[in-house]
Amino acid sequence: MFRNERDADGIITLTFDMPDRSQNVWNRDSLEALNAAIDTIAADAKCIGVVLTSGKKDFVAGADLKDLEAISQGGRSAEELYEGAGALSAVLRKLETCGKPFVAAINGTALGGGLELALACHYRIVADANRIKIGLPEATLGLLPGGGGTQRLPRMIGVQASLPLLLEGKQLRPQKALQAGVVDAVVRANELIAACKAWVETSPSAVQPWDIKGFKVPGGGLEDAAIANVFMVANAMFAAKTYGNYPAGKAILSCLFEGLRLDIDSGLRIESRYFVELLLNPVAGAMIRTMFMSLGDANKLKRRPEASKRPPTKVGIIGAGLMGAGIAYSTAKAGISVVLLDRDQAAADKGKAYVSSSEDRKIARKRNTEAKRDALLARIVTTADYADLAGCDLVVEAVFEDRAVKAKVTGLAEAVIGSDAVFGSNTSTLPISGLAQASVRPERFIGLHFFSPAERMPLVEVIVGDKTSDETLAWALDFVQAIGKTPIVVNDRRGFYTSRVFGTYITEGMVMLADGIKPALIENAGKRSGMPMPPLALADEVGLKLMYQVGVQTQADLGDDAPNNPSTPVLEALVMKADRGGKRTGAGFYDYGDDRRLWSGLGALYPVSAQQPTAPDLVERFLYTQALEAARCMDLGVLNAAEDADVGAIMGWGFAPYTGGPLSYIDGIGLQVFVDRADALARAHGPRFEPPGLLRTMAAEGRSFY
Ligand code: NAD
Repeated sequence: MFRNERDADGIITLTFDMPDRSQNVWNRDSLEALNAAIDTIAADAKCIGVVLTSGKKDFVAGADLKDLEAISQGGRSAEELYEGAGALSAVLRKLETCGKPFVAAINGTALGGGLELALACHYRIVADANRIKIGLPEATLGLLPGGGGTQRLPRMIGVQASLPLLLEGKQLRPQKALQAGVVDAVVRANELIAACKAWVETSPSAVQPWDIKGFKVPGGGLEDAAIANVFMVANAMFAAKTYGNYPAGKAILSCLFEGLRLDIDSGLRIESRYFVELLLNPVAGAMIRTMFMSLGDANKLKRRPEASKRPPTKVGIIGAGLMGAGIAYSTAKAGISVVLLDRDQAAADKGKAYVSSSEDRKIARKRNTEAKRDALLARIVTTADYADLAGCDLVVEAVFEDRAVKAKVTGLAEAVIGSDAVFGSNTSTLPISGLAQASVRPERFIGLHFFSPAERMPLVEVIVGDKTSDETLAWALDFVQAIGKTPIVVNDRRGFYTSRVFGTYITEGMVMLADGIKPALIENAGKRSGMPMPPLALADEVGLKLMYQVGVQTQADLGDDAPNNPSTPVLEALVMKADRGGKRTGAGFYDYGDDRRLWSGLGALYPVSAQQPTAPDLVERFLYTQALEAARCMDLGVLNAAEDADVGAIMGWGFAPYTGGPLSYIDGIGLQVFVDRADALARAHGPRFEPPGLLRTMAAEGRSFY
């Protein structure tokens, strides 16, 4: 696992290379192997220093998160966990005190426990490759760096500089890591080992600065009033931003606050204790499961049917508006040729101009080169001529949300493309099986629901129509993977999954308003629930007029079968009576002047009640209404897998990530408790809180989603 090769000069190159794995990770076996390797090196009188590198493309990926998820769900005692959790920390401490100087030759990405290994070395050199990322992302999974990261990093670069890396899990490319002081040098990849050996030849000290008497934290420690102030501000800012939903941030701040006033060994012990505390908190388990395991499975296309692999080489996109241009951008960025078609050449060119100006902005910010921009733009051909779609393996339509227009472009495209080319629709509301009626080969027809802005949003809802073949689904998934996005597979029902569940959050905000709850309280509770935006502001963003029109259309389509949406009267009052169409019209629940302010006329429309609920009551309603709708989607077979529901919620509309997703949220509360509480909410607020049959059955049978 660790190859030890000593050269004639007495420099050992120690190469971490786990057998039968594509990445190096920390688990019991690799930690034992490193421990043994350190013993051998310490006893090797001929060794003058060690170059520590990796035999994989990445340096070290961090802890084996499968282990951690199992641990955090496994009902083990704090004592048992403490023993295991401190293992990496203990081995790394042994490495830095074993008497031989270690230099980390960082040849690839070093995240989490990977960077912690490098931090325990006495010097760090990284290869100058843009694919390499360096950081401590543990906080984004509800954890803290438990291998000494919270202690060594601030002792190296100071408290203030380490906070964004620790609290936000910010990841740095090599040059930025050098500027931040996280690494000591950046060299060309083919010179990495030589540069590391050259450092060893300078007879460096094998003692870390923090092990030398009189060590002071750079930039000042806690005895310094300015640093004490940094903690006060960081603590307040973190609490204001996260509303106490993320225990990891608080634990990290505590590790620094308590650990930095003590010697490193005591600091490491404190870190291990907080690490165990987080492992025992369900937030970490839920976040690791959804944001790491389930997301990884979705990206690896776990739900792809068996079929030959066929990532497309040429993609046609019809409609070069907001969505079409964004989809064209993502596709071309992935190296795929794009034919971007609109009603006339000028409209198609406008779509390409959007891509071009985004690329220019990146060049201005030094995030792009002209050569790369030109190559990307050369892959996008604009046209108004359907004949140019010949040879496309896939065509995606993003024309107006109008059945007749969609039917027309489907026919025109199918007349040109090959018989096994896939046709995808980016409709946000129209059932796929209905749209497929316009197709002469409905088995090749599928929904590819992107989110706006399509070039940035990571999720694609892949919608399977009644006649969509397995092969078509497989190829559509290959496309989503090829453009670096995450797919979830959804069956064809009105509203699909994301729009349907996300809509309940906005609806709840509007119902609260109509019930006389103070608008500011509603908005604050929305943020406090962990949603990225408050509900009324979000409604303005989506567009009140658009939502109103969708409601009218649904009513017209379904008649008496249309679901009763309790937000309809509010939308009607705002749009039809008060002429407030949302943000785009400059007036919605908010006024949009120099700054955004709640509209002062809301009070006259919806007088505030004397009795106001508490914010936690509202938070509960926001999370329950979405969780219940997600459960209904499972009940109705909109989704086949709980993992897709949770990944889709967090990646699609930013559902409170600390919960692990709406179904993880239900599991976390416990099915029976959740059902009882939902029944109580239904009695108080209406039938939208009634739990679906699936939840009642699961509760009765003692089952959970995971
Ligand atoms: P848009 O109005 O910005 O763009 C539509 C484009 O289609 C226009 O450029 C128009 O010229 C073109 N078009 C119309 N008829 C055409 C025809 N017959 N032939 C060729 N081109 C034609 O609209 P958009 O926001 O990009 O939405 C497009 C589709 O994506 C809709 O179905 C919408 O529901 C869906 N969608 C939108 C969003 C969003 O947030 N805007 C999100 C997901 C899905």
